[in-house]
Amino acid sequence: MRSGGDIALTMPESVAPPGQVALAALVDDAARTPLISGYEPEPEDEQPLYAARRKVYPQRVSGTYRRIKWVVLAVTLGVYYLLPFVRWDRGPNAPSQAVLIDFPNRRFYFFFIEIWPQEVYYLTGLLILAAMALFLMNAVAGRLWCGYLCPQTVWTDLFQAIERWTEGDRREHLRRNRQPWTAERIARTGAKHFLWLMVAWWTGGAWVLYFADAPTLVHDLATFQAPLIAYVFIGLLTFTTYSLAGWMREQVCVYMCPWPRIQAALTDEYALNVTYRYDRGEPRASLKKAAVLHAEGLPAGDCIDCLQCVHVCPTGVDIRGGPNLGCIQCGLCIDACDAVMKKIGRPARLIAYDTDINIKRREQGLTPFYRIIRSRTVLYAAIIAAVGMVMSYALATRTNDAISVLHDRNPLFVRLSDGALRNAYTVRILNKSLEKKTFAITVSGLSDADIDVIGGSGFADGNPLVEVGPDQSREVRVLVTERERLNPKAAIPIKLSIAPKSGGAAVSAADHFFGP
Ligand code: SF4
Ligand code: SF4
Repeated sequence: MRSGGDIALTMPESVAPPGQVALAALVDDAARTPLISGYEPEPEDEQPLYAARRKVYPQRVSGTYRRIKWVVLAVTLGVYYLLPFVRWDRGPNAPSQAVLIDFPNRRFYFFFIEIWPQEVYYLTGLLILAAMALFLMNAVAGRLWCGYLCPQTVWTDLFQAIERWTEGDRREHLRRNRQPWTAERIARTGAKHFLWLMVAWWTGGAWVLYFADAPTLVHDLATFQAPLIAYVFIGLLTFTTYSLAGWMREQVCVYMCPWPRIQAALTDEYALNVTYRYDRGEPRASLKKAAVLHAEGLPAGDCIDCLQCVHVCPTGVDIRGGPNLGCIQCGLCIDACDAVMKKIGRPARLIAYDTDINIKRREQGLTPFYRIIRSRTVLYAAIIAAVGMVMSYALATRTNDAISVLHDRNPLFVRLSDGALRNAYTVRILNKSLEKKTFAITVSGLSDADIDVIGGSGFADGNPLVEVGPDQSREVRVLVTERERLNPKAAIPIKLSIAPKSGGAAVSAADHFFGP
């Protein structure tokens, strides 16, 4: 694989050339094929170590994959921009925004799920799920994420559509770039940057709406009453969206993103990737030249070297050179080539989603086959299923009450005047329900102990009571006194439990009672 900023020349080493075409001739031919129209590679010994960026002007294309990309773009951007306005009734004393990151109250709301800081392990589970889903996508169909779902791809696609709309398609844009700055050119370029900035500003604006009640924040932003940090973040995200999607575009994928490198290490010969079927396409020749070659009894492939696949590529890659790190596998070259094949009456899918193994099999005259179910896809799917089930179980069985205990570090214990031993604990009680609750605290594991709470709300059946407000947590100091004589250096496991006075299951946390 080669970096996308380079010339795409690499052929899979283990794959022999098709038919009568020698590999050397094929590589030679590919070397003469420019990545971008107008580019002429310098002789090997004169090439500088640093290659300046060659701007890519992707041509408009239509076809199956382009339509899929439009649908994905509309859905993902629609979800991103509109989700903060979706309401979810959680009852009184709770926010009604379906998805909300509530930093002041340290909560994350996702529809019916409310995650507390103590439950950050759900986030770990989500990250594992996301990583495994990415690996699975990669094992099945290469860089599906990069080509269709990655925010960089989605926003760059939108920005390129705006560019084509304002400055014209590839050919028109290139022609205009060669002309002096006329009023029309200034107006078109100005309109493009204005629209880019608008999209970038909406993107930054939508981001901050996830951190506060969206309708209220929109009003506050419009009337300049919002907190300064909201304006700062909108400015930051406007800048990053405008520069990453408008200016840097394919360079983010080729140079900045680590995923292509990781993905290349994770792939195998059974993964579907956008592939030029050179066993069918080579030796490439124009329609006229192919007719001459055929008349002379010489072979000519289906590729007519029209460069349409290169011109539509958003990263400027020539997929005919073989696998390339710059290829985000968006499938647009498939659409372009299919249109060419249709026009010249040859079968479609000269470029297609295919596997390395099938390229080898076709060369050997064997029937291609696809193997989606294999050890790595099964493993990834099993991990996703296992983590998903554990998370679902944890969510389904989570209670509204929780307790965490921290033993005093110093002193570990104190001896009272009557000879009894006392240990002190910091106890946090969580009440995730929307009503105020009174909890009775008990201790178990000691033979003759009593328990007290500093700042408690009285006693019931000899157990101290603690009140905790709705959707709140409360920290209290708990003193446990044991009157029984303990063995030297005793560390007795104990349990501190809370039970709602109104009824309901008790929840416990374990710790130790220490003696001298
Ligand atoms: S679009 Fe198809 S025919 Fe044209 S250069 Fe690309 S692979 Fe060859
Ligand atoms: S080579 Fe084809 S699949 Fe790869 S990025 Fe370019 S257009 Fe997309």
